[in-house]
Amino acid sequence: MFTLTMHPASEGDCLQLSWGTTWSPHHAIIDLGRTRDYKALAPKLRELRRVELFVVSHIDADHIEGAVPMVNEASAPFIPADVWYNGYHHLEAAGKRRASKLHALGSVQAEKLSNGIHKFDWPWNRAFGASGIASVDTPLAGPLLLEGGLKITLLSPGDAELAALEPFWARELAKANLRPFDPDNPKPDAPVGLHTLSTLNVAALAAQSFKPDRTEPNGSSIAFLAEYGGRVALLGADAFPDVIERSLRALGYSETKRLKVDLFKICHHGSQRNTSPALLKLLDCTRFAISTDGSRHNHPDAPTIARILINDTIRWKVLYFNFEQPNTNTWQRRETEQEFGFACVFPGKGDLGLTIDI
Ligand SMILES: [Zn+2]
Repeated sequence: MFTLTMHPASEGDCLQLSWGTTWSPHHAIIDLGRTRDYKALAPKLRELRRVELFVVSHIDADHIEGAVPMVNEASAPFIPADVWYNGYHHLEAAGKRRASKLHALGSVQAEKLSNGIHKFDWPWNRAFGASGIASVDTPLAGPLLLEGGLKITLLSPGDAELAALEPFWARELAKANLRPFDPDNPKPDAPVGLHTLSTLNVAALAAQSFKPDRTEPNGSSIAFLAEYGGRVALLGADAFPDVIERSLRALGYSETKRLKVDLFKICHHGSQRNTSPALLKLLDCTRFAISTDGSRHNHPDAPTIARILINDTIRWKVLYFNFEQPNTNTWQRRETEQEFGFACVFPGKGDLGLTIDI
């Protein structure tokens, strides 16, 4: 078995990869959503006992906030064989590796998750060897083999993205240690083609010019390929599409030699700034997963879904959503599904979250 579960995590992510046999599965947890999401999920996480990998993709609250109540607990909910998270000292080290000018911190603030990793005596970025930085520029960045046979290839971040976050962290995070919320980019005016919720002009939405995300925390996202039993998932966190594109090209993929991906967990909850037509052209993929309840940012953006549909008008596509909400329900209409050849999949009645066979 090889599954991705998108737990309910407000506007953010709490993902679980499971692989191996049903009687002896292995697990990885990626992000913990917000505080209330963690509290609701903690009993389920405790049942896992051991996880092969715990990833905190980046410092935005919709991914990391749930880690704060976790590290305040007397005992860890699970024992991870490795924790991937780039704390402040990793950003400094990545910056040094690039010989960039360092910004001094006025005072070294205790960082809650960093302290928690020490408190629980967890291994930290162990897979990346002596550098200890989860970066594609670390020689050991991939592919990595986890217990139970899961192969991971890191796609984001690079040292450049980590170094870019360092002054941001020094400036804004010295006191709070996490961003209170993801401010996102200002949205352009109502997208062309999104007239009302009852009519969608998919072609007009897809044709809007692509403006990339440039927010430093998202750029520092840990995103990777996970492979098991010949199946491949791309877990995009909130990464920049051009960083993933750069890594895929470095791995030898191109528009004429596309990477076969069985499930793409779309970057940044379907923000229109994080799924570029250029990235979609590098992937041979018909199944897409989006994690968000639509609060705060009205994700997923309609142009993202439109770009996915227009990218491959021949094959049948599936969109997986972990919440029924206005921005996802709007795609569940028979005439649009038939015209563009796709289906929407939501959690079943009474189910919390969605588990997808990769
Ligand atoms: Zn996010």
